[in-house]
Amino acid sequence: MKDRTMHIVLIGIQGAGKSTQGTMLSEKYNIPYLSSGHIFREMAKEKTKLGRWLKETMNSGALIPDTTTLEIVLTYIEKPEYANGYILDGFPRTVAQAKAFNGSIEHVIYLNVSDKEALWRISGRTDVREDETLAALRKRISLFHSVTTPVLDYYKDRGVLHEVDGEVSVEEVFAQITAVLK
Ligand code: AMP
Repeated sequence: MKDRTMHIVLIGIQGAGKSTQGTMLSEKYNIPYLSSGHIFREMAKEKTKLGRWLKETMNSGALIPDTTTLEIVLTYIEKPEYANGYILDGFPRTVAQAKAFNGSIEHVIYLNVSDKEALWRISGRTDVREDETLAALRKRISLFHSVTTPVLDYYKDRGVLHEVDGEVSVEEVFAQITAVLK
């Protein structure tokens, strides 16, 4: 049985700790964790025109266009396993996506980590993915500032944004988030 229904969005640059915190939150609240990047990476493995195009786009660090993203992610979260909520990582990433999504989001958590700290953390990883070249990382971070920062304002205006200091320990970040969700 699910503890409670929850729709949470995690926002932050790559390396901010979204997947770590998302997985921990998923365990604590018994709500599935879902990353749009993961959905796209799975689809990019397919040897189809769409698969190849997704792979190329992701490896460059560019975003998948809004129409494609919306079609794929919104269809995906219709699955029965997300009926009691979800912890979303990586979506919405543009204001157009946020507006079209317009779901029942109760909390948006912004994990605030500086570019420098994020790049430092990622450079220390050993399980580097194909789409994690330095050029792609830099592009993703720069896109975050130009395209995703307005999403923070969008949710702030709706009174659901919570900013969390992402540069402290994993446990301290988690404590900040769970305090918000109480
Ligand atoms: P991530 O794992 O969240 O860093 O996502 C990896 C890549 O997937 C991004 O660089 C984009 O190409 C694509 N992607 C993931 N989520 C989105 C989104 N909401 N909108 C557009 N592209 C996305």
